[in-house]
Amino acid sequence: LRAAIDTTALVSPLVEIDRQHLIHPVSSMRAHEARGATVLTSGKGMYVRDADGNDLLDAFAGLWCVNVGYGQDSIVKAAAEQMTKLPYATGYFHFASEPAILLAERLIELAPNSLNRVYFTLGGSDAVDSAIRFITNYYNVMDKPSKKQFIALERGYHGSSSTGAGLTALAAFHRNMDLPLPNQHYISSPYPYRHKTETDDAGIIAQSVRELKAKVESLGGPDHVAAFFCEPIQGSGGVIVPPKGWLKAIRQACTELGILLVVDEVITGFGRTGPMFACEHEGVEPDLMTVAKGLTAGYAPMGAVLMSEDIYQVLASSTASGATIGHGYTYSGHPVSAAVGLEVLRLYTDGGVLANGQMVARDFAGGLDSLKTNPIVGDVRGQGLLGAIELVANKDTKARFDPALKLPDRLFAKGYENGVIFRAFGDNIIGLAPALVATPDEIWSIFERIGKTLDDLLEESDIRAALS
Ligand code: PLP
Repeated sequence: LRAAIDTTALVSPLVEIDRQHLIHPVSSMRAHEARGATVLTSGKGMYVRDADGNDLLDAFAGLWCVNVGYGQDSIVKAAAEQMTKLPYATGYFHFASEPAILLAERLIELAPNSLNRVYFTLGGSDAVDSAIRFITNYYNVMDKPSKKQFIALERGYHGSSSTGAGLTALAAFHRNMDLPLPNQHYISSPYPYRHKTETDDAGIIAQSVRELKAKVESLGGPDHVAAFFCEPIQGSGGVIVPPKGWLKAIRQACTELGILLVVDEVITGFGRTGPMFACEHEGVEPDLMTVAKGLTAGYAPMGAVLMSEDIYQVLASSTASGATIGHGYTYSGHPVSAAVGLEVLRLYTDGGVLANGQMVARDFAGGLDSLKTNPIVGDVRGQGLLGAIELVANKDTKARFDPALKLPDRLFAKGYENGVIFRAFGDNIIGLAPALVATPDEIWSIFERIGKTLDDLLEESDIRAALS
């Protein structure tokens, strides 16, 4: 396998055109211009192929979304049939399409019991943005216009809409963007490996609840706070798995405070952590839930915000005179995406994909454990098929590697050379989210390739010298 940073790629016409015209999401534009794109051309099962013909084991399911793996013909067929029959139907003017209606019904069947209404979006960012807009509208209709403050978690990610990116608590999403907004606030991440004050699970949970209550108080009390947003496992913040019981305690605190709980299951939904939704681990019933990614497994863009019947009824009450709620997208409930979603949900359930994911999760946990003894692995963590390996320069002090070593870029490039794609986060955390269709052998192969990648890195003198 050739390295990701490949000088032969510089002569590819596609790479050159990309460099001239295509702006990439969440990237250093200058670094991209220098490096050039890695063009992917096809995918099958757990593997993607690049323009040089290299087959790479995708341990990140694209961007934690291709949960059913690549090349699922039944999804292609469902999309083609819908595109042939009716490629587009608006949801405006009381129109609807059969797949959008059936997908809403199926989602509600599968979702936590508290949720009964679905609003379709194009992805996760606009699902979060829609949730914020509906909540704002809800409290205004309720004649509680002072409830305008939003609270989320440090290290949280809630997409990059102009409002939602302020609930995202990652510095890159705020830099030069005039965020967070004045009504957006955070409490500490329940990050067991690096918790600021607590060392045991019960302490971390109690601290989160205390902080949430104190934050609400500092904002003038519950009459001023609309909602708390969180991911059940923080994804882009570094795959941070809170202690068992954390989400349940947060649910209880939000109920006591009289603020809405929005659970963002954009990554954790659709079997990623084992059950269909991560809320199910603790029987948590949120007031609203955002989903995307696994909903269509990346085969077509789609997301959704699900809400309780109570919230829906309040919103609807303001439209009795025929007034509309001014929130909508041309492609809300897009029939082709909805047809894809219906087939993807069938694959999870009747197609056995969720059950397979639960089965190989044991191998995944074993693979994570097998890396614990590596000299630069400080922590491994995960749930279901969502996991992380946190690298440190010193296991005792948990000291991070010097950013000047550019470890994430080097990790990614070495992984690529070893035939595996994973996420290499800025804090030297390897993120893993393989498709739920993996065989045990494919899961073990991911860890063998990562182990080799870490060993290769350790052979480099500056990395060895950085170990303390
Ligand atoms: N919420 C969470 C938890 C996410 O992880 C993401 C994307 O990674 C989003 C929202 C935004 O979704 P999208 O990229 O589809 O807009």
